[in-house]
Amino acid sequence: MPNAHATTLDHYEVWFLTGSQHLYGEDVLKQVAAQSQDIAAALNASSDVPVKLVWKPVLTDAEAIRRTALDANTDDAVIGVTAWMHTFSPAKMWIQGLDLLRKPLLHLHTQANRELPWADIDFDFMNLNQAAHGDREFGYIQSRLGVPRKTVVGHVTNPDVARQVGAWQRASAGWAAVRALKLTRFGDNMRNVAVTEGDKTEAELRFGVSVNTWSVNEIADAVHGAPESDVDALVAEYERLYEVAPELKTGGARHESLRYSARIELGLRSFLEANGSAAFTTSFEDLGALRQLPGMAVQRLMAEGYGFGAEGDWKTAILVRAAKVMGAGLPGGASLMEDYTYHLEPGAEKILGAHMLEVCPSLTATKPRVEIHPLGIGGKEDPVRMVFDTDPGAGVVVALSDMRDRFRLVANAVDVVDLPEPLPNLPVARALWSPKPDFATAAAAWLTAGAAHHTVLSTQVGMDVFEDFAEIARTELLTIDETTTIRQFKKELAWNAAYYKLASGI
Ligand code: MN
Repeated sequence: MPNAHATTLDHYEVWFLTGSQHLYGEDVLKQVAAQSQDIAAALNASSDVPVKLVWKPVLTDAEAIRRTALDANTDDAVIGVTAWMHTFSPAKMWIQGLDLLRKPLLHLHTQANRELPWADIDFDFMNLNQAAHGDREFGYIQSRLGVPRKTVVGHVTNPDVARQVGAWQRASAGWAAVRALKLTRFGDNMRNVAVTEGDKTEAELRFGVSVNTWSVNEIADAVHGAPESDVDALVAEYERLYEVAPELKTGGARHESLRYSARIELGLRSFLEANGSAAFTTSFEDLGALRQLPGMAVQRLMAEGYGFGAEGDWKTAILVRAAKVMGAGLPGGASLMEDYTYHLEPGAEKILGAHMLEVCPSLTATKPRVEIHPLGIGGKEDPVRMVFDTDPGAGVVVALSDMRDRFRLVANAVDVVDLPEPLPNLPVARALWSPKPDFATAAAAWLTAGAAHHTVLSTQVGMDVFEDFAEIARTELLTIDETTTIRQFKKELAWNAAYYKLASGI
């Protein structure tokens, strides 16, 4: 298994299940097996399908289905199952298996042949290629049991089918990462802040994530105990990878501050590795013996795949970690982000997002600058940080709020845009975006939903992946995109309030 904070999808697999029954005889079942292997192979050949599909022998009775579901549940490499009813598979056979299944499910509604062989078609062909009603039987039992799943429809040669399968696989991988996540908090939430709070016990039940707190002085001990030779090596790496300000370089007047930043990175990393932790939070109100607020160290760890939330915000740290895994291998990045300030020119409104220091350099393909400046908050030494502009392109910002009786995800599709002018007096990493469908609608919807000021910004995956993630996590998701109107959004909020009360039971 890779390190806890890795983002690779290579060790994951999705099982490809094919449903049938004994009625058809051995010859037909052999054809079903061969054709379903071809379909799994076609999907595996697509660059849009990141996780390996593992074909399983055709399922023809309830005991085999039950056993397969149990095996999928207990195999940590299996992040989900895909099911296709090539022929008719009487769905009462699926009840026990579907009821036991605890992994994400994708119902693939496809067919081996694309065109009907008009001149040759006979009833043998009809019996072999009857997903049209076999999958309807399967859809019925899934709906009757209330099984959350993604349904993908189409022939595998349609690129949209592979894209949808791939999006769902990414969401399933994010879910697997969250289920396995141990989140380390250094210090508590920022005093008196509401939205960064939440029910950590409920989060462990709903998402599987374990959230626990350590004294920041344990980190400080690890930071101050970092070996000098490791600090030397890391500083050399900084000077190689980034545009380091002359005053911070070896021999520069403030080089010691860069060395201290390197110590923070070494201390944090060793502590998180020892904990098997892939996400963490810090708090500028609780830095103990640390001399700088961790800035560049946090940026570098996020770039390696760690989830992060500032001011004790463990919920956003979960989202950052999930987004890192879901976007593995794709261009762009994912980072903690905060809606900071607005450009309110009519018709050209923009949101300038940033944080005190902690924005992940995966959001740019350019070389970040490493600088040191005072921070008017926290009362510590000047912190070192990477400064860059986020690359333009499509993105999504997502927040997680604790609404007392449930968690709520809110996602806004955005266009990250170039800065119209340089920002010479703002030495932090930042992103400028215009939200969909327009600024006023997006902001009003966001506020009406009670969504947070901290988000994850992903420029790697889109709304579709977060929609699949929410479905898998059985968590409310409110989407704000080009189709959103406030009138409809308010109705959705009202309906959801009733729905989630009913769905949670007594
Ligand atoms: Mn903040």
